[in-house]
Amino acid sequence: MGTTQTSWTCEQAAELYGVPNWGGGLFGVSAHGDVEVLLRKRPRPVRISLAELVGGLKERGLDTPVLLRFSDILSSRIAELHGGFRKAIEEAGYTGAYRGVYPIKVNQQQKVVQEIAEFGRAYHHGFETGSKAELIAAMAYMQDPDALIVCNGYKDEEFVDLALHALRIGLQTMLVIETPGELPLILARADRLGVSPRLGVRAKLASRGGGHWDGSGGDRSKFGLNAAQIIDVVDHLRACDKLDCLQMLHYHVGSQVSDISKLRIAIGEACRFYVELVNEGAQMGFIDVGGGLAVDYDGSHANTPSSRNYSTAEYAADIVEAVMNATQQDGLAPPTLVSESGRATVAHHSVLVFDVLDVSRFEPGRVPDALPEDASEMLCNLMDACRNLRDHNVQESFHDLVYYRDELRSLFVHGYVPLRERALGEELFWHAICRISELLRGQERVPEEMEGIEPMIADVYYGNFSVFQSLPDAWAINQLFPVMPIHRLNERPTRRGVLADITCDSDGKIDQFPGLHEARAALPLHEMREDQDYYLGAFLVGAYQETLGDLHNLLGDTNVLHVRVNDEDEVEFETEIEGDTVAEVLSYVEYEPREMLARLRASAERAVRQGRISGSDRREIVSAYEAGMRGYTYFEK
Ligand code: PLP
Repeated sequence: MGTTQTSWTCEQAAELYGVPNWGGGLFGVSAHGDVEVLLRKRPRPVRISLAELVGGLKERGLDTPVLLRFSDILSSRIAELHGGFRKAIEEAGYTGAYRGVYPIKVNQQQKVVQEIAEFGRAYHHGFETGSKAELIAAMAYMQDPDALIVCNGYKDEEFVDLALHALRIGLQTMLVIETPGELPLILARADRLGVSPRLGVRAKLASRGGGHWDGSGGDRSKFGLNAAQIIDVVDHLRACDKLDCLQMLHYHVGSQVSDISKLRIAIGEACRFYVELVNEGAQMGFIDVGGGLAVDYDGSHANTPSSRNYSTAEYAADIVEAVMNATQQDGLAPPTLVSESGRATVAHHSVLVFDVLDVSRFEPGRVPDALPEDASEMLCNLMDACRNLRDHNVQESFHDLVYYRDELRSLFVHGYVPLRERALGEELFWHAICRISELLRGQERVPEEMEGIEPMIADVYYGNFSVFQSLPDAWAINQLFPVMPIHRLNERPTRRGVLADITCDSDGKIDQFPGLHEARAALPLHEMREDQDYYLGAFLVGAYQETLGDLHNLLGDTNVLHVRVNDEDEVEFETEIEGDTVAEVLSYVEYEPREMLARLRASAERAVRQGRISGSDRREIVSAYEAGMRGYTYFEK
């Protein structure tokens, strides 16, 4: 801390926050010290400063927290996925095709689904749906007769009928059999509607994906049919002469599969199912590998829960190679490869920007020149431990400091030392701990017992956001998200902080951040300035976060802005979606804002009658209440 400003460069800032590692070439730091989004337009990328963007929004009245969705990133992610498979197919000389489908559950917002249909059109990118509502959305937005709609999940009669109707209007709809009871229902409804259904079967593989969603695969997985149940499906279809309807082998071993070897093992096992189904006489033609293609949230490119040890190109190459080998060996026609890549498609395109409202600074204790003459032995020991602290004895000094501090506290509790002495002891202790933290920064390995030091001496930066609404996975599964200031990056950050949100929940915090080698417990941040707002961005938040976010403390949806670069390379604010008002979130939890207002009016009227307030006070109170109802649920300045 405390080095000169001039020795700091924007490149160092980019390195510090790992931007080149997790940014995928889509984010950078400008010479002015702003985070910029690089939208890939030929011949050069269009650069958008996030700070300028947010400044422009504020002028127009759209406040932070705001979720920025970059349509061009969405389009480039779809292009990258298809580019990966195209290259793998060409290099391997595979004669089958690839068709991606987007699982709507990963981000079901209307605009996102609409844009995926629009950008995906060039690649015949379809949808995966897991419920009636998702299928209904897919049917409205999918216009491409060559794209697939894959129907997973539990299906009732209405779901089945809708899928069959979609087929009737020319959409390539696959009904994936997830449970043994679904087949008779589908066949009965198809018969009734006079349609020949297109069926898939979800196999319960023995292979598993590992990580948080390991339970999606394996014998005990919720969905899918085991080998015996698949044989039953085949026998049933054969008995009614409908084996031509069975066209797809589907599996899903979990999301965010960080280890490519797990994906490889799974595709190998799935290929055997596929080949055997063809041998049984099923028409087949499609292998759907489900989701799992991971996002490198922490930029470590490693087999850890927030990363992945492979690229999209390697993922595609391994799938193509496995399917090609398995089918060629048996002389089978090459199936169309399908992946349901959700996270990898939408994570990068959304950035949450929020302002910092306040900072609770950690102040290191002061060391007095000398202790009072009557200082206790324990306090003198603490002073000595503090003075003797050096590079070579950090660990021993840490042990001494903790021991003497605890002893001093115990003496205090038993009435042997006064409060003043305890206060002095704690100042000494924290002063020494801060020195230790500085010394540890120069060391390669931090002893385990001292790993907790960093968050203990970090400042707390209070951000205008809700972890539960906007980054639920950071709370629920300790998912790391890159978080960093979006401006002032030409200044060396001199503080270290953890983030607290504005919910009144102690879990509403972020204290794990992507680091160079491992997660770090505090984020380098700048001193707040009196006259300037300080903005932070949480990146790669486009997958699952909006959908899973909840109304904890009745903090609702944030403002949203869709940003697009037009053909003239100009930045367009395409769609503005205002976040929830207080009245809206109240109505989600069954309040009736009109009735609430009537109640408040009546209470205020009673107060007038009792002489507590005047008639004009009542008017003021009622209009403040009404304005509060119309207001944003987040902190408004
Ligand atoms: N397909 C199915 C059946 C899923 O359950 C999921 C999510 O878990 C996905 C696709 C999307 O997975 P991902 O976001 O890892 O691509």
